[in-house]
Amino acid sequence: QAKAQGRNTLCFFDPAMQAAATARSALEGDIRQGIQRNEFLLHYQPVVNAAGQTMGAEALVRWQHPQRGMVPPGQFIPLAEQTGLILPLGQRVLHLACEQLARWNRESATKGWTVAVNVSAQEFRHTEFVPQVLQALYTTGADPARLKLELTESLLLTDVEESIVKMQVLRNLGVGFSLDDFGTGYSSLAYLKRLPLDQLKIDQSFVRDVLTDPNDAAIACTIVALAHSLGLDVVAEGVETEGQHDFLLRNGCQQFQGYLFGRPGPAEALQPG
Ligand code: C2E
Ligand code: MG
Ligand code: MG
Ligand code: MG
Repeated sequence: QAKAQGRNTLCFFDPAMQAAATARSALEGDIRQGIQRNEFLLHYQPVVNAAGQTMGAEALVRWQHPQRGMVPPGQFIPLAEQTGLILPLGQRVLHLACEQLARWNRESATKGWTVAVNVSAQEFRHTEFVPQVLQALYTTGADPARLKLELTESLLLTDVEESIVKMQVLRNLGVGFSLDDFGTGYSSLAYLKRLPLDQLKIDQSFVRDVLTDPNDAAIACTIVALAHSLGLDVVAEGVETEGQHDFLLRNGCQQFQGYLFGRPGPAEALQPG
């Protein structure tokens, strides 16, 4: 009896697992089709300077699904990464972001704006990554010097030498690099100083309680100081209150992003000034 049950638990056909696998492959098929049908679009969130002026925006992908509605990236980026679909999806994102960048740079009110694009590890590591960026820039006519690519710590540390080479190729054209969610990964300071970066982004998890948690305050201030001593810009992410903004501003942070300044939305919703 016990043995039979034991054997039963080893059965391949676990209905819950089967259901999860079916849902996954349905989602995978949906993503594939969504790319072909142009269901992916970008929302933009403003990045402001110390004077509160918009300097540019971060592009955040959304999936306008015919049945599921507006799907946030957390619900499809991980599967897209696991299945390799992040490559065609990333290509689409790069194209849309560069197209918008070129549009903004043609208008006098938004001429100097930059656009930041998030890049997944699988995307960055692929041999086609650099050519994909070049293609997006050339087909849209966007200025490479106004494009920023946001990478994460873990992504860069898996193959430091190769990462540096890729970054240098794009940097020679003027493309900037930002280290996203800084402080949440495993950066070693020895690597950090070798990477050809332009910017650190303080993760929102440190900004959230910056006024009430002395550890978060210390970490945020340390990141600002570290960035400046390495000659890098620093952006605080997830700024929601005046109090957080004041604290960070007083401690030397010069760029901000968060609901206090604007939620991600369609490009047309972004106002110059
Ligand atoms: P991220 O790059 O760190 O982007 C910041 C996230 O914080 C965004 O979530 C944004 O909507 C949210 N956020 C902005 N301001 C605030 C605030 O004041 N408070 C709070 N609580 N949240 C705020 P979103 O759009 O859901 O994106 C989540 C993550 O998905 C991004 O984190 C990024 O890692 C990834 N992602 C987004 N778009 C792309 C993309 O085109 N390609 C890739 N590979 N990843 C993307
Ligand atoms: Mg980002
Ligand atoms: Mg971030
Ligand atoms: Mg993030």
